[in-house]
Amino acid sequence: MSKTVSIVNQKGGVGKTTTCVNLAAALREQGARVLVCDFDPQANATSGLGVDKTTASPNIYDVLINGADIHKAVVSTSYSDVLPANKALAGATVEMIGIDHREHLLKQALSQLKDDYDYILVDCPPSLELLTLNALCASDTVLVPVQCEYYALEGLSDLLTTIRIVKRSLNPSIALEGVVLTMFDTRTNLAMQVAEEVKRHFPGQVFATVIPRNVRLAEAPSYGKPVTAYDSLSRGSEAYLELAAELIEKNKD
Ligand code: ADP
Ligand code: MG
Repeated sequence: MSKTVSIVNQKGGVGKTTTCVNLAAALREQGARVLVCDFDPQANATSGLGVDKTTASPNIYDVLINGADIHKAVVSTSYSDVLPANKALAGATVEMIGIDHREHLLKQALSQLKDDYDYILVDCPPSLELLTLNALCASDTVLVPVQCEYYALEGLSDLLTTIRIVKRSLNPSIALEGVVLTMFDTRTNLAMQVAEEVKRHFPGQVFATVIPRNVRLAEAPSYGKPVTAYDSLSRGSEAYLELAAELIEKNKD
């Protein structure tokens, strides 16, 4: 089985990249073959896995826009394989305008590698525009990180509407993998209330694993490592290993 999962929420700072990098490494620790496709021009997933975003070449932009060989773009790290992004990807949206089937460019590219991996995780930018649309067209499922803060649900109805439209017109088999609560602070009532509200809103679709607010998760990217490698005993590391196990269990045939 090979599964492509987009990590989407058009809000910035909710834990998409943190989830992408750490879930990838945790899935790999549990024996899965994993590729991270960095699809955000900020390229934080690329650098978070220890790959230099300023020199990685070819990158996903070159694959989509310049016809570079996707196999040559894949970088193997100790934590997962990575398709690097860089800031040029920000211009891809405009450059795609004249291209036929422009929503399907990522899908076409990833189809060449899909069989090499159990999971391809696509780290999306904080918008619902053409890059994210490409990610949704290329994906079997969508994983939505939701930060346990005020306004957590804000924007989620737009996201669900977008997924519904994509399902109707571009990718009929797309499904919601689930919602992951992130940056949960056990000391606050607010976090508890938000978690309950999200669960009410998405019955049966919220992962049991909750990602705590944990400083190790915030520190790890500056070392170019996932938290499982930076501090394997931290609560953040434990949480992402648990999330990976839950995802694997959920997808067992
Ligand atoms: P996004 O990709 O949605 O913009 P990030 O994953 O980059 O969000 O997270 C935003 C910021 O919050 C980053 O500085 C990151 O290190 C930090 N962060 C993310 N998740 C956690 C967490 N569980 N605990 C502490 N800090 C976190
Ligand atoms: Mg990000």
